[in-house]
Formats: sequence, structure tokens, C-alpha cells
Amino acid sequence: RKVAVLKERAKGETRVSATPETVKKITALGAAVAVESGAGDHASISDEAFRSAGATIGSAEEVTAGAQIVLGVQGPDPALLGNVAPGAWVVAGLDPFGKGEGVGRSRVDAYAAAGLEALAMEFMPRITRAQSMDILSSQSNLAGYKAVLMAANTYGKAFPMMMTAAGTVSAAKCFVMGVGVAGLQAIATARRLGAQVSATDVRSATKEQIMSLGAKPIFVENVAGIEGEGSGGYATEMSEEYQKAQAELVSSHIAKQDIVITTALIPGRPAPRLITDAQIATMKPGSVIFDLAAPQGGNVEGTVADELVVKHGVKIIGLSNTPAHLPTDASALFARNLFNFLSAFWDKEAGEPILDEEIGNAIRLTKGGKVVNERLLG
Ligand code: NAD
Repeated sequence: RKVAVLKERAKGETRVSATPETVKKITALGAAVAVESGAGDHASISDEAFRSAGATIGSAEEVTAGAQIVLGVQGPDPALLGNVAPGAWVVAGLDPFGKGEGVGRSRVDAYAAAGLEALAMEFMPRITRAQSMDILSSQSNLAGYKAVLMAANTYGKAFPMMMTAAGTVSAAKCFVMGVGVAGLQAIATARRLGAQVSATDVRSATKEQIMSLGAKPIFVENVAGIEGEGSGGYATEMSEEYQKAQAELVSSHIAKQDIVITTALIPGRPAPRLITDAQIATMKPGSVIFDLAAPQGGNVEGTVADELVVKHGVKIIGLSNTPAHLPTDASALFARNLFNFLSAFWDKEAGEPILDEEIGNAIRLTKGGKVVNERLLG
């Protein structure tokens, strides 16, 4: 078996889908790993480090030649995959709903046309045995951390309370909206920096988690449609009544905040709008909003990915790829997710991975020349 690791080509992508650690482990399964020269540059991993771990280093063409498995952080350009083995696997974050030329659905269609088996790692089901393979969790965790650091860096005041001879500096008030994996890490990070932290979510199960991290839950009570939890622990869209009550609660709370971190996502849909321009206008000048949902359209009215927007004196930031701002750790965790996936399904006798039905059906986008995933067919 040959496993290919390509250099990421998307703009702003700094991560790499394998590390020397995972190269060693994949090799131990009995596969050969070929890494494109320079693939680890941004993550501070040299060709030499990959070579010492047992990989061969070469050009994209050399690396993909005859490969049965191609790993990626983002989906590789189908044009790079002309010489892979027939029916080869493409294992990456494939962003099938992504917008833009040559990405999203059109790229999935191209994988199908090329007879490749495209496996979207972000479609990994949220089941206990797949936790170690979950790229959304590993990357969101780092993103939640980085969001707080970037907000702190943009904020003109300090996070912790400080008593100095020249007077007291008050603690920043930080509000986290959306308490999934990223939000929990954002709460923990803001607490470590000394902020007073509060948080909200539509899933009432998060209340306890918020409190266990020493933050204050801000929740709508006694309104129909409050459950907020759909399949797989993800959020659902909320009733109109709930949305109205939530907007009112958030409005009064937000006016008193210095830092707001938004992380709310609903799978397969644009990010829900949590903060309007009118609400921003009630915030203090100098406050900072970090919108982690920027790549999905943003939770905040006016967010422009990768730009600092100032509205009513409030700074709004959002990045198109937050984990890429922590290239080394983001690569390390992403690469382990991919290795955990390969090794969980590795069949020693066949010398290759064989997927089971539950996970195969969830993540397989294309096979035998066709798009086969029900989330893309519906
Ligand atoms: P996500 O990235 O899909 O969304 C982020 C958060 O935004 C969620 O908590 C969601 O409830 C919240 N949200 C959505 N709409 C909102 C709104 N209008 N207002 C406020 N908040 C809103 O979520 P996630 O980080 O992927 O986590 C979702 C759940 O899945 C969590 O309970 C997490 O612990 C669980 N999870 C399980 C596994 C596993 O078992 N393998 C892996 C990862 C996550």
C-alpha cells in the first residue's frame, strides 16, 4: 500500500496531513508513505524530519504515482490525482458544501468522475468510537483557544484585574456564544487569562458544562422549543418565539461585555445570525468580537473573514481558517485523527483499511464513479 501526503495548496492553509509521528505509525501498519517536498514547511516540519521517520520525499507527481490512499487537510485538486491507483481513497476535510471555484460540490463531482473514493473526514459521526478521528473537534478546540488570544491581542485593555500602585485595572467581561468544542475551549482560555466569563447556547445540556468551567450561564428560560439538540448532539434551528427571547436576553447582556466570542454553527446550513448591527451599537467602543463562524457566513452582522472591521467603535474579527494560525499543533492533531482512522479500519490480512457500514456510509462521498452520500443526494 502506498499513502501519499500532498502539500496543501489552498490560500492561507499552513497545516499538513501527516507528521513524522504519524508517518512512523502508518509505516508500522505496513504501508509506504510518500510526502511531497515542502509539505511540512509552514508547520515547521522539514523534509528531513519526514525522511527520518521513514517517508520518501518527492514531487507531487512522484508522491501520488500509484498511491492507494491520498491524505489531505483540505481536498486536493483532482488534477493532481491523475496517476493514483484506480479507486484510490482521498481522505481529507472535503468541504462538499463549500462555495468557490473548483471546490465544494464541483470538486466532489470531479473525484467521482475520476473513479476515486472520496472520504469526507468532517462527516465523521459523533459516536464514542470515532472521537479520536474527529477533525472538527480537534481543530475547533485549537480555534477556540486562538480566538480568545486574538481577541485579547486586539483589545486595548487587559484581561485580568490588576491592582497596581497607579490604580486598578478592571477585569475584562467575556461572553462566549455557542458552547460546543470551540466554545468550551474559549471559556477555559478566557478564564485562564483572568476575564469574567459568561456563555450561552441553545442546547440546555451546556449549562452545567459552562458552570463547571467557572463561567456564568446566560439562558432563555420557559420558552417553547428550548431543547435545541438534534441528532448526534448538534444544534437544531430554534422556534421563532425562542429566537426572539434569545435576542432580547443577548441584547441586554451584550451591552455590558468587552469581548464576545461567537462559535454557533448548524451543520449543513449557514451560521445562525446571533448579533445584529443594532446590538453592536449598544456595545462599548473598544470592545472586540471574534466571530469563529466567519467561514460559514458569520454569526455577526458585518463580519468580513480575514479583515478587521470596526463598527460603532467595536472591532469585529473573523478568520477564514483559524486553526491554520496554529500550524504545528493543528497539524499534529489533524494527522493523528487521520492515522487513528486508518489504523481503526486497517485489515492486517488485506493489508489495507476496510470501512464498516456505519462510518463508511457517513463519510463516503463518492464511489464507483458516482456521488453516493445521502447528505449530497437529498
Ligand atoms: P458546532 O460547531 O456544530 O456548534 C457550536 C455550538 O453552537 C454548539 O454547541 C451549538 O449548540 C451552538 N449553537 C448553534 N446555534 C446556536 C444559537 N442560535 N445560539 C447559541 N448557540 C448556538 O458544535 P460542536 O462543537 O461540534 O459540538 C456539538 C456537540 O457535539 C457538543 O455537545 C459536543 O460535545 C459534541 N461532540 C461529540 C463528539 C463525539 O462524541 N464523537 C465529538 C465532538 C463533539
